[in-house]
This record gives sequence, C-alpha cells and structure tokens, in this order.
Amino acid sequence: AARDKGKHRYAFYLDSLTEGEKSSIAIQSQLYQAVDKDEFTVYYQPQVNLNTKEVEGLEALIRWNNQELGFISPGEFIPIAEESGWISTISNWMMEEVFKDIVGWEAEGINLHVAINISYRQIEESDFVENVMYLLNKTGCLADNITFEITESILMEDLDLALKVLTEIKALGIRISIDDFGIGYSSLSYLKKFPIDSLKIDRAFVKNIQEDKNDMAIVQAIMEMSKSLEMTVIAEGVETVQQIHILKELGCTAFQGFWFSRPVPKSELAINITHIYDEKLELIS
Ligand code: C2E
Ligand code: MG
Ligand code: MG
Ligand code: MG
Repeated sequence: AARDKGKHRYAFYLDSLTEGEKSSIAIQSQLYQAVDKDEFTVYYQPQVNLNTKEVEGLEALIRWNNQELGFISPGEFIPIAEESGWISTISNWMMEEVFKDIVGWEAEGINLHVAINISYRQIEESDFVENVMYLLNKTGCLADNITFEITESILMEDLDLALKVLTEIKALGIRISIDDFGIGYSSLSYLKKFPIDSLKIDRAFVKNIQEDKNDMAIVQAIMEMSKSLEMTVIAEGVETVQQIHILKELGCTAFQGFWFSRPVPKSELAINITHIYDEKLELIS
C-alpha cells in the first residue's frame, strides 16, 4: 500500500508541473541510460574551404533517438544534460566515438579534421583535460585532428579557469574555435587573452545577410577583427548561394551549412569526401 501511495504522490506531483517541466523530467531520466542503451549517434557536417576547394573539416553533432520519447534534438537535451552534470558522460562517449572514426578514416588514407562541441560544465570538471588525454591515448587519435568548439559565454563565465583549461587543451595540440560568434559580448581585448584559432560566425548573421545591412556590417567587423587577431573564420548556417556570394565578398572563405550538406551519419560521408563538392564549388567561384 505504501508503494501505491508513493505512486499517487508522484502522479500528483506530475500534475502540478507544466508540460515543459514534465518533458524535461522525462528527458532527464532517459538521459541517464542513453549511453548504456546505445541510443546516441554521431552525425557529421562538412566544412568547405573555397581557397583549397576541399572539405577542410567536419563538425560532429550528437543525435539521440530514445525508445520512449523518440527523436530529441540536442537543442532540447544538451541544456538538460548540462544542468544535471550528465553532459560529461555524454561528451566522453561522443569524443571516443569521434576519435575512433578519425583513426578509422586514417586507416583508409583519409585525413579528416573534426570539430567537437564542448560545454562549460566540462571545462569546470577538474579531470577534463586528463579525460581528453586518456581518450586520445586509448583510441590512438592525434590531437591535431581535433578542434574544440566553445561558446563565448564559456570565456565570460570564469576567465581564469577558462584560460587555464584552454591553454592546457591547446598545449595538447587541439585547436580552439569560438562557436556562435557575434551573439555574445566578447571584445577584441578579451579575445586576445585566449589561445583561439578560429571564429564561427553565428548563423543568425548569415540568415538575412542579403537584406540586412546591420548583419553585413557585423560580419564585416568580424572579418576585420579576425585579421588583426590572426584567426580564421567560418560562416555557419549557409543555405543559399546568395549568402555565400556576399560572405565571399566580405572575405570569408570557409563555410558550413545545408547548402553544402546537412549533418549526416558516417555511413553517408563519401569516401572521396574532400572532393565531393566540386560541382557546388563551380557554382560559387
Ligand atoms: P552548433 O554547435 O552551433 O551547431 C550547428 C547547428 O546548426 C546544428 O544543429 C546544425 O545541424 C545546424 N545547422 C547546420 N547548418 C545549418 C543550416 O544551413 N541551416 C540551419 N537552419 N541549421 C544548420 P544541431 O545539430 O541541432 O545542434 C544544435 C546545438 O546543440 C549545437 O549548435 C551545439 O550547441 C549543441 N550540440 C550538438 N551536438 C553536441 C555535442 O556533442 N556536445 C555538446 N556539448 N553540444 C552539442
Ligand atoms: Mg558547434
Ligand atoms: Mg554554432
Ligand atoms: Mg548554436
């Protein structure tokens, strides 16, 4: 009977929650088992360079298909994983998977650089760098095949800690890229403190770049800034040839977006991946 009562209370508790809170509880409880149940997959999205006319890298993006909840987007579950602290477990799975893929491609004679998204919560973990080293050693993946994508907010959260951890990561040979760049509040002097290799222009600025003079001005400023900071720039979320033309005029040469390819599972990446966009590149050169 005690068990029934408990169940009742739980039902009552659920009734008093909003839909959003309910689903976040459901997501959280399913998240804890998702690695063991093998419910995650890595998708890859190519990053194309106009100068070399090659795929210069891939971004690894996690996908989750849960038995009960179905497909859940990372935009939905990553913040929940971050809040609960479970993100490190998920990210360790993700890194190992990506590192193994890179080693596998290497064995086929394909050298691919992969960018992995890293959350602030991971930077805070005292054993983060150790973990990364452990996974590199375990898989035999070389650090210079990896970029970590972090958001500007990571830098703002705890300057000293971020600087310490990123410097250690950089010393391993991993590159550092600032994701969703432009929507945060980083100033030039601020960015200079960190060992950053590249900036990813947020897709919010790419979306309406044809009509919006402000967006164009922001991208122009980012391009100028990157020159003085000696960082490379990649535009994310490019969906049209018109966007690419304008970005190109502004000096941007690296692109990632649906126009080239949606994120795809490893099995759908072509063997000759570095040259699959020759026809598309014709259109924009
Ligand atoms: P992000 O790192 O900024 O990744 C880019 C997002 O934009 C991806 O969404 C990608 O599918 C989407 N995208 C790419 N090209 C286009 C385009 O042309 N148009 C539009 N509309 N969208 C495009 P996704 O895969 O849903 O991931 C969303 C966010 O979730 C990521 O944003 C990242 O912050 C986070 N995330 C994804 N995988 C991981 C992961 O393994 N670890 C962590 N910590 N975060 C992840
Ligand atoms: Mg990213
Ligand atoms: Mg991004
Ligand atoms: Mg984003």
